[in-house]
Amino acid sequence: MKMSKLFVQTLREFPNDAEAISHKLLVRAGFIKKLANGIYTYMPLAQRVLTKISNIVREEMNASGAQELLMPFVQPAEVWQKSGRWQVYGKELLRCKDRHDNDMCLAPTHEEVITSVVSDVVNSYKQLPLNVYQIQSKFRDEIRPRFGLLRGREFIMKDAYSFHTSQEDLEREYEVMAKTYTKIFNRCGLETKAVQSDSGAIGGSVSHEYMVLTDTMVGENDVFYCDSCDYSANSNHAISILPTVVTDGGFSKEEIVDTPNVKTIDDLAKFLNVNPNCILKAVAYIYDSKPALVMIRGDKEIEETKLMNALNALEIRPMEENEVSELLNSSAGFISYRGIDKTKVKVLFDNTAKGMKNFVLGANEKDKHIVGANLEDGIEFVDVSLVKEGEYCPVCKKPLKVTRGIEVGNIFQLGTKYSKPMNACYTDVDGQLKPYIMGCYGIGVSRTMAAAIEKYHDDFGIVWPKEIAPYHVDIVPVNVEDELQARVANELYEKLCALGIEVVIDDRNERAGVKFKDADLIGFPIRITVGKTISEGLVEFKTRADGEMVKVSVDEAIKKCQTLLN
Ligand code: ATP
Ligand code: MG
Repeated sequence: MKMSKLFVQTLREFPNDAEAISHKLLVRAGFIKKLANGIYTYMPLAQRVLTKISNIVREEMNASGAQELLMPFVQPAEVWQKSGRWQVYGKELLRCKDRHDNDMCLAPTHEEVITSVVSDVVNSYKQLPLNVYQIQSKFRDEIRPRFGLLRGREFIMKDAYSFHTSQEDLEREYEVMAKTYTKIFNRCGLETKAVQSDSGAIGGSVSHEYMVLTDTMVGENDVFYCDSCDYSANSNHAISILPTVVTDGGFSKEEIVDTPNVKTIDDLAKFLNVNPNCILKAVAYIYDSKPALVMIRGDKEIEETKLMNALNALEIRPMEENEVSELLNSSAGFISYRGIDKTKVKVLFDNTAKGMKNFVLGANEKDKHIVGANLEDGIEFVDVSLVKEGEYCPVCKKPLKVTRGIEVGNIFQLGTKYSKPMNACYTDVDGQLKPYIMGCYGIGVSRTMAAAIEKYHDDFGIVWPKEIAPYHVDIVPVNVEDELQARVANELYEKLCALGIEVVIDDRNERAGVKFKDADLIGFPIRITVGKTISEGLVEFKTRADGEMVKVSVDEAIKKCQTLLN
């Protein structure tokens, strides 16, 4: 490819609407063009990277025995009504009508379509197991599209769906996919960690996310992990063993005390001279338009995904102050579970409330708290608390660490979550009709490209791993008007192309500095400069990753390319 012909426009400056480094670099290096919020054109350089990632995905999925197909992107409401998700999938599902006034939507995922296709074709246990996948654009009207390709509205996903006659067989395939995923990401030059996760809107019970661990701010997930054993989990799923702390407030009797204007846990702890561990905190929420109250130990915070699951809710938000007085007949900062009408308000107790004694509790009245309170018998506890770094690993009891991660893929054991409501069945050995037992397996193809940049970049631009680089080599003749330089550069270009190496020749009549800047920005793994030293038969060979530059002969340069790119 000649640089003068390549359909790319690099920019001098970073775009000012970008926060994430991958977003900044993808735009500045001319990989993507924004059309609307969260919607981008993949320019030729990006398309080459995406094709490489897709091909790796394809090769490994095929090798695992899965088969590729392609499903419709625009879907009728019926399949979604059948699974029950038309009503419950929130605003991320972009709904529209066709000319006949039929409800339609843009596919955010394909469980319902694949389940209906398979149930048409697969009638017998003899046709199972089956694993089918596709690589395709998805549309989700994300509430906060951000970070460029990391959270777009339109994005490319590989989604696979497997069908089984037993849980054991699903578990076998789940393991096959786990191994396949590790291989796929390794081949893309990315190390990933498989962490336990919440199964979210897709449902099912067991699931793992594949995280690229980053120290940049953009990882949207906190991952808790243990160095001593292999426990690791998304914060929305992580559990811990708490350090032993005093949870006895030491008050000898229960009584109401004045706590004027003391609203925060810290202020209250200071005012009453107790540890926050001895305060039972009440946090009020609205879930699916209904009120809920969560009781949790004062030093702990609520993990909202866990809370959503415990409430079986689609949406939650903290209660506003006026709602606290209207719905709970209480006062913000002084809320208690006592005296709340449990037929109207859902009250949950977090596990951390267990074992608390003689504690401090709101009195449901402004400026008043109860001290020396104790829980009544028969209370059920749930886990809705956020783990903190330093709490202990639930497996081996060593301190947990936390890091940020970008989720590039996930695997789920769905069970019969879709097959049952959609009545998607096969006839088993015993002649009985049974719903398929399903798994699903996603990879964010476009997110993987961005995650690679988050991981591999420097002050000058992208540093592509060779496996997914848009081109391998950039040949830079310093002065294209110099006959010898131009001729050698062109010959080198022809030779490398003939060897199947992907090369760009920067034939633009630009200053060398401009060409070097673009080479670094775009991130070619190798740059070969043909300059003045060509009169001595030498070119300059630079590897992007370590910045190393050496003078070598043209033949040696070719050999080095072959070795490095192998
Ligand atoms: P997230 O928690 O990041 O929203 P998800 O749980 O919604 O992800 P899935 O529905 O299982 O993800 O999609 C499979 C994969 O698709 C994810 O692992 C992720 O890599 C990718 N993905 C999901 N949403 C987006 C998005 N808005 N933009 C880019 N990639 C995405
Ligand atoms: Mg999502």
